[in-house]
Amino acid sequence: MLLTNKQAERYLRHLIIPEIGEIGQKKLLDSSVIICGESTEEITIPALYLAAMGVGNIFCILSDNRGCASLFADVIDLNGDVRISESDERRSADCRIIAGSSRFVSEAALSAGSERNFIPTVVCVSERWRGMLQVFNDINSLRAFAETLEVCSRTNASFSFALALGWAACAVEAVKVCVNLCDGNNKILSYDLLHMNFVSYGKNEQERAINNEAQKLSEARVLIVGAGGLGSPAAIALAMAGVGTIGLADSDIIEASNLNRQILHRETRIGMLKAESARMSLGKINPHIRINTHVEYLSRENVNEIIKDYDIVVAAVDNFQTRYLLNDACFLMKKPLVEAGVLKFDGTATTIIPEKGHCYRCLYPNLNERIINPPEKGILGAIPGVMGFIEAAEVFKIITGTGTLLKNKIILFDGTDMQFDCIDMDKNPVCPLCGSNPTITHV
Ligand SMILES: [Zn+2]
Repeated sequence: MLLTNKQAERYLRHLIIPEIGEIGQKKLLDSSVIICGESTEEITIPALYLAAMGVGNIFCILSDNRGCASLFADVIDLNGDVRISESDERRSADCRIIAGSSRFVSEAALSAGSERNFIPTVVCVSERWRGMLQVFNDINSLRAFAETLEVCSRTNASFSFALALGWAACAVEAVKVCVNLCDGNNKILSYDLLHMNFVSYGKNEQERAINNEAQKLSEARVLIVGAGGLGSPAAIALAMAGVGTIGLADSDIIEASNLNRQILHRETRIGMLKAESARMSLGKINPHIRINTHVEYLSRENVNEIIKDYDIVVAAVDNFQTRYLLNDACFLMKKPLVEAGVLKFDGTATTIIPEKGHCYRCLYPNLNERIINPPEKGILGAIPGVMGFIEAAEVFKIITGTGTLLKNKIILFDGTDMQFDCIDMDKNPVCPLCGSNPTITHV
C-alpha cells in the first residue's frame, strides 16, 4: 500500500481513474509545484485545486503577498497532506505555473531560471475575456514566448496589423485635435482585428457601464443546485464577481472523498452539511452578498418552490434525475438554466434559455435512455473547476446581457488534450417538453 487508508478515501475519485491510480497519486503527493502570481487573491484558485488534488508541496512567488497567511491556513485546512509556503525564484520543483496579465507573465517568465535547472512551466496569459495557455519544456521557447509577449505589450511586433490600424487612427485623431474637431469626450476604442470586433465608448460611458454591470450583478438572484465539484467553482466565481444573492441547494454532508475537487469545503468540516460549509467559505470570500441555503433533496414536490425566487439556475449535479427535473422545471417556469457535467478528464456545458434554444430533452428525450445510476466515477480534481467557471461565465453573461451564450451549443472539453469543442445543437421539433406538441406540461 502506497497510501494510508485515510488518503485512499480522500483521493478515491483519482484512484479509480486508470491513468492516475495509486502510483500516480503517490507521485502527486511527493511533487512540488511553484505558483507565480500577482496577488494572493489571484492564486487562491490554483492553490486550492492543487491542494485538493494532493500536490504535496506548493511554493508561492507573489508580487503582493498580503493575506497569504490566511490563504495558507485555508489550504492546509482543505488538505493536511499538503505543505504550502512562500518561496524565492531559485527554488527547484517539478512544475511551475505562471499566470496573469501579459506584462506580469512576460516579466515572470524571463526571470524563470536557467537552462541547467529549468522546470517545466505552464503559462496562462489572460485579459478579462481572452486568455491563452501553453506548457513549456525548455528555457529557450519560454524566453522566446516571453519576449514576444513583452513586444506585444509595447504593441511593436514584427508586423502588427492592429498597430498599423492604430497608427492611422492616431493620425486621424491628431488632425482632429489640430483643427479643433475633437468633442472632448475622451473616447476609448477597443478592437480585435482577428475577429473584427470594434467597441468604442466614452470614458463616462465606460464608468457608467461598469456601475450598471455592478448594479445588475448585485440585484441578481442565482440558485446553484449542488455545492460539490461544479458548485464550488461556480459559487466562488459568482461570489467574487458580486452576484447579490446566491442560493445553494444541497442536502449532502461532506465526505473525505469529496475533498479532491470540492474546494468550498475543508477537512475539518467533514460530516457538516455541504450547504452550510459553502455558506461559510463564500461569506469569507464576499461578506457583502446574501447566501441562502436549501438543505433539501430536489424533488418534484419542492422544485418549483425552491427555484421560484431566483432569476437563473445553475445545475451543478451528478445525477440524471435532477438534471431532467431542473430542465423541466426551469423550462416551465421560464428560468434560464446553465448546465455542466464532468467525468475523469472530460467535461460538458450548455445553457438552456426556455423557448429560445434547445433543452436537455431535445438531446435525450427520456430519462430511461440514460444510465440511471452510474458507478462511482473517477474525476480529476480540477476538471470540474474548468467546467464550473464556464457555468459562472454564462451566468454573468445572462445577468449583464453581454457576449454570446452557449444557447443551442454544447461545449465538450477533453482535459487530456486540453481541447475544447463547441458543437451546434438544434431544437428538436418533437421534443416532449419544448417541441410543438409537448407531452410534459408539469414536473
Ligand atoms: Zn427540448
